[in-house]
Amino acid sequence: MRMSEFQALLKKLYLQKDLNRGIESTYIWLIEEIGELATLLNAQELDKTKISEELADIIAWTISIANILNIDIEKAIVSKYPNKCKKCNSSPCNCVK
Ligand SMILES: [Mg+2]
Ligand SMILES: [Zn+2]
Repeated sequence: MRMSEFQALLKKLYLQKDLNRGIESTYIWLIEEIGELATLLNAQELDKTKISEELADIIAWTISIANILNIDIEKAIVSKYPNKCKKCNSSPCNCVK
């Protein structure tokens, strides 16, 4: 699935709820998912199934924010992350830090 298809799917499923909830509450949900990821990464044994679920949640809530603002996330990704590092202009990145 392309990122644009996933964004369209989330729009179809949740756009009205996202708009009703609003940007601030949606942002808080995103941070809550990031907290859930932190808890899993802090565990003695890494549960990759649960970790992958939280990563999916984080991406979904991130796209909900994009949907509320009517931002094309695939466009944003391609522009921010082209085929080479934007700072050093190479692939893989050769930046010192
Ligand atoms: Mg979650
Ligand atoms: Zn670089």
